[in-house]
Amino acid sequence: MIEVVKPKFLSFICTTAHPAGCEELVRRQIDYVKSMPPTGQKRKVLVIGSSTGYGLSSRICAAWADGSPTIGVCFEKQAFKKRTATAGWYNTAAFEKFAAEDGLYAKTINGDAFSKEVKDKTVELIKKDWGKADVVIYSLAAPRRTMADGTVYSSVLKTKDRPFTSKNLDIGKRKITQSTILPANAEEIEATIKVMGGEDWYEWMHTLKAAGVLADDAVTVAYSYIGPELTYPIYFDGTIGQAKKHLYETALKLQEEGMNAYISVNKALVTQSSAAIPIVPLYLSILYKVMKEAGVHEGTIEQMYRLWHDQLSSDAPKTDAPARIRLDDYEMRPDIQEKVMEGWNAVSDDNLTEYTDIDGYWEDLYQMFGFGFDHVDYDAAVETAQPIPSVEA
Ligand code: NAD
Repeated sequence: MIEVVKPKFLSFICTTAHPAGCEELVRRQIDYVKSMPPTGQKRKVLVIGSSTGYGLSSRICAAWADGSPTIGVCFEKQAFKKRTATAGWYNTAAFEKFAAEDGLYAKTINGDAFSKEVKDKTVELIKKDWGKADVVIYSLAAPRRTMADGTVYSSVLKTKDRPFTSKNLDIGKRKITQSTILPANAEEIEATIKVMGGEDWYEWMHTLKAAGVLADDAVTVAYSYIGPELTYPIYFDGTIGQAKKHLYETALKLQEEGMNAYISVNKALVTQSSAAIPIVPLYLSILYKVMKEAGVHEGTIEQMYRLWHDQLSSDAPKTDAPARIRLDDYEMRPDIQEKVMEGWNAVSDDNLTEYTDIDGYWEDLYQMFGFGFDHVDYDAAVETAQPIPSVEA
């Protein structure tokens, strides 16, 4: 369908995405990587969760910092009647277009990564086209997981044992509010671990290994977050934190079994997943302000370039605990966190722009869906049904 596409926000999620804007987002990330020194290491890279956020940036680094062939796995929707495709769909279409222009192998499997069917398809594709994969990035952020027997687990963003009341930012109304997050019950904690813990990562690694499509010295990395004490009740000590602890234990287990498995603790950033976490928008908008003023703000692409160039291209990644890489070093710097705390205590409706980068937050949110780029003509009609040349459903 050829139409003019405008943003339509339902709270923090945009229900439309702009194909030309998503292409611009991908182009900018590629340009950034091209402007940086290459790693000089060509590998075969599988990215699970490859279409948005950290996974998309990982795939871009693999392709343009390494010159590596990539297979992406994601769960996105093509345009249908009056509905645009999802941002991740357009990002993937753009990724493949630019990869083809630069002579880089790129194929995408669009389907439920939790399913055996998608794992088997990925194995077949690696066998057929590569033989073996050298790097496996696990960057899934999913709201639910359907098991083989049809059981559905849904992840929740709650505290672990007691209610937590805190300042919050209503980004739509630009108002400081109070938010109370209720504790999860045991079932909800278990479900969140099922969805966002390490079980599926473990299954992926074992499926690939058993099929003989994993190089002997293959490296695998899954992404995590810790953050400051301020957000512990909702993140590190909350339901999602329990899942991330499981993810970390899975890295240790994979290492015990002889695999090069790591967790990379990344910086907090606005992505489709993090925007959904209560209290995090206030923390993020203060953090953006402080880190931009200190000249150390990074987006997903700068973070992933550091992972690729400084860690995954060295003989052994630098870790601060067994199997744990830190990319949140600038975020967690004492001077940065001190300023964030100052802002947190002082912020009110009257001084929102003094202490928060709410406009930067909105800019990231808009750009995630392909809106708000200078070079894109948002009054022009565009074809919303974009094909992804290689996609296998
Ligand atoms: P995101 O929402 O931008 O990306 C999620 C990806 O997972 C997308 O490619 C999506 O298509 C894919 N996906 C979701 N469900 C799927 C399914 N069933 N099958 C196949 N693909 C599926 O998320 P993100 O923020 O980039 O998060 C990626 C990882 O990074 C997560 O583990 C997250 O916890 C971690 N992380 C995020 C932040 C942050 O601030 N955003 C910080 C540190 C770590």
